[in-house]
Amino acid sequence: MSDNFQQPMYCANHPQRETLLRCNRCDKPICTSCGVRTPTGYRCKECVRGQQKIFDTAQWWDFPAAALTAGLLAFVSTYVARIIGFFMFFLAPVAGIIIAEAVRRILKKRRSKNLPIITAAAAFLGAMLPTLGNIIIMLLFAGSAQAVNLLAGLVSLIWPIIFALLVASSIYFRLKGIRV
Ligand SMILES: [Zn+2]
Ligand SMILES: [Zn+2]
Repeated sequence: MSDNFQQPMYCANHPQRETLLRCNRCDKPICTSCGVRTPTGYRCKECVRGQQKIFDTAQWWDFPAAALTAGLLAFVSTYVARIIGFFMFFLAPVAGIIIAEAVRRILKKRRSKNLPIITAAAAFLGAMLPTLGNIIIMLLFAGSAQAVNLLAGLVSLIWPIIFALLVASSIYFRLKGIRV
């Protein structure tokens, strides 16, 4: 144990440079020009690079799994929102948190930079799906319908869009770890 300190150490990248510094993660001897100062101490460049990779541990199937979960749950929550009407404003953030936690559980702590935005987008689409029929009908009859009907159709889209946006943003911030 103690002979570590008695024998001179040499930098792993520069065999002729004597050093007292070790990477605090992999214990590799490093010289001052090889060490990178981090908030937790000196680390070798390899470890710093590895640390950055930890933030992107998601597997390819995590993306469709997260999107499917978020889309499906958001789809269901839209029907709940329709039933409770005005109270959907309170439901939306709660639904967002539930969906974000469900996605988190499925991913088992794996993470990726793009996952929050993909999950939020999938939830938005899922929440808009029940309204999609209305939009298609509106577009089909846009030419023939009277302006009044078209306006009524557009107004009927406002609440589902707001709800979908609320749910999606709640998911996004929850997964990003930003407290609102
Ligand atoms: Zn290291
Ligand atoms: Zn070195």
